[in-house]
Amino acid sequence: MAVSGFRPAIEDLYDGLTVLQHRGQDAAGIVTFDNQFHLKKANGMVRDVFHTHSLHRLTGHMGIGHVRYPTAGCSSEFEAQPFFVNSPFGISLAHNGNLTNAKELAHELLHTDFRHLNTSSDSEILLNVFALALQRQRPIKLTPEIIFRAVRQVHRRCQGSYSAVALIGGHGIVAFRDPHGIRPLQVGKRKYGMKEEYVICSENTLMKPLGYEFMRDVEPGEAIFIDRKNQMHAEICRKGHLNPCAFEWVYLAAPDSILDNVSVYKARLRMGEYLARQIKASGIKIDSVIPIPDSSRAAAAGLADKIKVRYREGFVKNRYIGRTFIMPGQKIRQRSLRFKIHPIDLEFKGNSVLLVDDSIVRGNTSRKIVDMAREAGAKHVYFASASPPIINPCPYGVDIPTRDELIASHHTIEDIRKFIGADKLFYATPEDLVKSIRIGNRKLQHLCTGCFNGRYPTPEVTPKLLLDLGSQRNRTREDHMAEEDDESNKALSIL
Ligand code: AMP
Repeated sequence: MAVSGFRPAIEDLYDGLTVLQHRGQDAAGIVTFDNQFHLKKANGMVRDVFHTHSLHRLTGHMGIGHVRYPTAGCSSEFEAQPFFVNSPFGISLAHNGNLTNAKELAHELLHTDFRHLNTSSDSEILLNVFALALQRQRPIKLTPEIIFRAVRQVHRRCQGSYSAVALIGGHGIVAFRDPHGIRPLQVGKRKYGMKEEYVICSENTLMKPLGYEFMRDVEPGEAIFIDRKNQMHAEICRKGHLNPCAFEWVYLAAPDSILDNVSVYKARLRMGEYLARQIKASGIKIDSVIPIPDSSRAAAAGLADKIKVRYREGFVKNRYIGRTFIMPGQKIRQRSLRFKIHPIDLEFKGNSVLLVDDSIVRGNTSRKIVDMAREAGAKHVYFASASPPIINPCPYGVDIPTRDELIASHHTIEDIRKFIGADKLFYATPEDLVKSIRIGNRKLQHLCTGCFNGRYPTPEVTPKLLLDLGSQRNRTREDHMAEEDDESNKALSIL
């Protein structure tokens, strides 16, 4: 997210990142500017990374912030965002998405452009491509035209998904979205006397709490520049086709966000309503519909309404358990689901329950939860997934890993049912998922549904590229896990 106004930016950035925390819990970072860049970033949740001292140090009226959800590169703290380069002007950038040609770009940057890359993060690559495109114009005065020309160059060189915000020292804030608009990006404004202040962020869930009014989504291929006088300039740098990621509505986004004019909450309600048809047709008798908290609540409510069965909260989610920061290491994390979610036995004892989750990725979560429902005394445990079977990895920044790890890519629905231990298993169809989202905005012609049907909006994504990206991801994950296991062994020996 980025803010530019007339008050200390840190207040909005800190509160805004806290609201956006659901988008990533691995690392957080903020950069502000007041004649000098002030940076603080580290692994952990927003509340763990920033303390009174760092908040006081981050002065200035403009800044950018980021919460990381790692999908490329590793989870080391050096890969936390925003990234910084000192030329031209000093630029700091935060990126949501994933470049699919990162490997080639890194090679060009190192060997042709003679720029140094300090990490394996594709976001550092994106920053360097942008910085180089500005530098090549030898700008004496930084005009919107120069910025937009640089973004055009980024669009020419970078493939994949990128919604990015950048702070150019002493000059302003730049934001741009890739020509397919795969990841969300939105602008809001707020009055300050006769002047306007701006926020640019992934989701408008944070705008109301911070007093901003939603203006619009950034268009695919568009760039926005907020100059040092806080004047906003916008240009479509490359004509694009909107192909937003369907998984934002399934799982990633907050329910109160509206992305590309479609309410996340209403789309989830409709996903449940469509699922209801399959449940009715199956003829099973259900006593209650129970969501697996948090992201499946709306789908479970829509489903329960349509089949006229009571909706019940059967699981309590502990809100105070973070992810890796508090639970380092795989071994401890595997134990953590039982701490994270526990059943209210009363809701299960002697009942036939329909559990609803937003998705099944590897199947491990669903298996453990079905198990918990049975231990709590359920007579029958039925299971419904609000998204269709996930059969392909995501090259655009959702941590849907290699095909091998996706249970639905190499098992039938009946095999999956047996694996998770449910009495019946229902999946949404890809058509129903698309309808659930598109009903909110008929102009939204094409969503990215690659993980469900293998159709990706950018032509460079081939089976070979997916394999390459998967094995790169596995390598960095293995390195990180080795590090984590050391931590985990230390933690276990302390316990
Ligand atoms: P599993 O099937 O064990 O891999 O986990 C599926 C669960 O993880 C579902 O309950 C989702 O809510 C959640 N989930 C789905 N996609 C993701 C993702 N990309 N990253 C993290 N969690 C996810």
